[in-house]
Amino acid sequence: MLRFVAVRKRYGRQLALDGVDLDCPSGRTTVLIGPSGCGKSTLLRLAAGLIRADRGEVWFEGAPLAANNLRAARLRMGYMIQEGGLFPHLSVRGNVELMARELGWSAERRRARFSELAELTRLPAALWERYPLELSGGQRQRAALMRALMLDPDLILLDEPLGALDPMIRVELQRELAAIFARLHKTVLMVTHDLAEAVFFGDRLVLMRAGRIVQQGSAQALLQSPAEAFVVDFVNAQRAPQQVLAEVSCGARVRA
Ligand code: ADP
Ligand code: MG
Repeated sequence: MLRFVAVRKRYGRQLALDGVDLDCPSGRTTVLIGPSGCGKSTLLRLAAGLIRADRGEVWFEGAPLAANNLRAARLRMGYMIQEGGLFPHLSVRGNVELMARELGWSAERRRARFSELAELTRLPAALWERYPLELSGGQRQRAALMRALMLDPDLILLDEPLGALDPMIRVELQRELAAIFARLHKTVLMVTHDLAEAVFFGDRLVLMRAGRIVQQGSAQALLQSPAEAFVVDFVNAQRAPQQVLAEVSCGARVRA
């Protein structure tokens, strides 16, 4: 579905990605984790075609992303940027329906899809005509998620979709999102810096450091057979490493 081949990306003198090979299989959730600045958002921006690699290729559905197929590919992706990125001058409905409107969907079709997504993300009708500034962080995240899902994309790219939420809302939204992904059987590439969250969502975890992939595989493999000392350090630096380890070793969230 989505594949990065020997991808390298520099911003000026800053090397953001240093030769990344990664395969994101269909119908699975791949979670990128790693410390701030390691290149997670850059990888998502490349997948969404917002920036181009200096070297290497990004493949989507059997073809490398290029100028002539980018628009068609983009319409099959839902991308939620870090902090949601809702347009402040548009209401929730305006934000969510924006692309569908541009594509010429009828008002009826837009409304039907909007209502379906509001139900899925449990965004109450009283909030639909509000502007982003009139919403709580959690409500904004839901609206941003609705916008990413509006065109029923095959590939969902989520950059810290639950970042900056208070713990109660975060746990609630984690559960809801995981249920949504399972129900929709979508291919998801998601970024988080929180290992517990990665373990919760991920079929496959990809740990990055300084523009490179350090280790990828199941949460169990990562935690029980760390590829290098950094993996252990990263796990131990988490807020509740013991809790993560216990969760993984009891197999609660580990899938094949
Ligand atoms: P992450 O999402 O893992 O925190 P990013 O992918 O945003 O990391 O950034 C990777 C590296 O590239 C960081 O060192 C960051 O400072 C740098 N970087 C990201 N975007 C830009 C940009 N637009 N201009 C210059 N440097 C950037
Ligand atoms: Mg980031």
